[in-house]
Amino acid sequence: MISVKNTTHIQSALLDWYAQSAIPYPWRGKGASPYVILVSEFMLQQTQASRVASLLPAFLKVFPTLESLSAATNAQIITAWRGLGYNNRAIRLRDTALAITTTFNGVVPDEPSVLRTLPGIGAYSSESLPCFIYGTRTIVVDVNVRRVYSRLMTSQPHTGALESMSSVRTFAKSIIPDREAATWHHAVMDLGSTICKARSAHCEACPLTNICPSAYLPKAPFQTQRKKEPLLRGEPRRLWRGRLVEKLRDAGKDGLHLEALLPDAKACGVELAEWMTLIDGLKADGVINVGKTIALSD
Ligand code: SF4
Repeated sequence: MISVKNTTHIQSALLDWYAQSAIPYPWRGKGASPYVILVSEFMLQQTQASRVASLLPAFLKVFPTLESLSAATNAQIITAWRGLGYNNRAIRLRDTALAITTTFNGVVPDEPSVLRTLPGIGAYSSESLPCFIYGTRTIVVDVNVRRVYSRLMTSQPHTGALESMSSVRTFAKSIIPDREAATWHHAVMDLGSTICKARSAHCEACPLTNICPSAYLPKAPFQTQRKKEPLLRGEPRRLWRGRLVEKLRDAGKDGLHLEALLPDAKACGVELAEWMTLIDGLKADGVINVGKTIALSD
């Protein structure tokens, strides 16, 4: 474990570096309201930060406040979610906005255990929201943070290998500053996404080079640890679902007849029974209504 002296050194070196190099995402800094942070944390769950940064302003134009989002229909929110993927998140975000409006007086709860009772908020978001909204010293560990901490904890070649989550959390507890917890986590995330990257650590540009046990270690073959996704005809099922939703967005409230919605099986190689499984899944998730026509749900 890193000594107290080295902990202080890491904290000041990283925070100084961040003060010069911070990526100016719209959900950071004094201008970011709790509402903007809530929306962006949902978007960031499964979408790259640069993509979220480009799509967030348009979403906020449609839904500028928690109240406006709470009143959105499924069709409205899925339409505004265009380009972000994983449409179920949009519905859960609206449900969470509604719960905050009705049960919590419009104030995002600050307790992780309370946040975890809201739709779409799991272990990660229940800690990131209090940290980024209120500056609470929670432990926020995404994939970038886990990699940076793993390399700071032990000497290891630059591979996909990571320390266990429980030891990373123990390390995090010892290294997160008492103040500036939100700035600290933004700094670690930026270091992980721009310098201490998964496949190429640029130690020569890192503010922690003189203290990191993994600095300049030779590269070993990179081990990918991607979760296996359910596939359909060699592609993730979510992409096929996304194509259906995209067509229904364009169709508007009248929706489409089944034959107009589905591409020709010969052209795409997906049979009717496989399409129907996707449609049943979207219906079960509340994304679409199936009647005489198929449309985004109200
Ligand atoms: S010195 Fe290299 S391995 Fe260590 S944190 Fe910096 S970039 Fe990552």
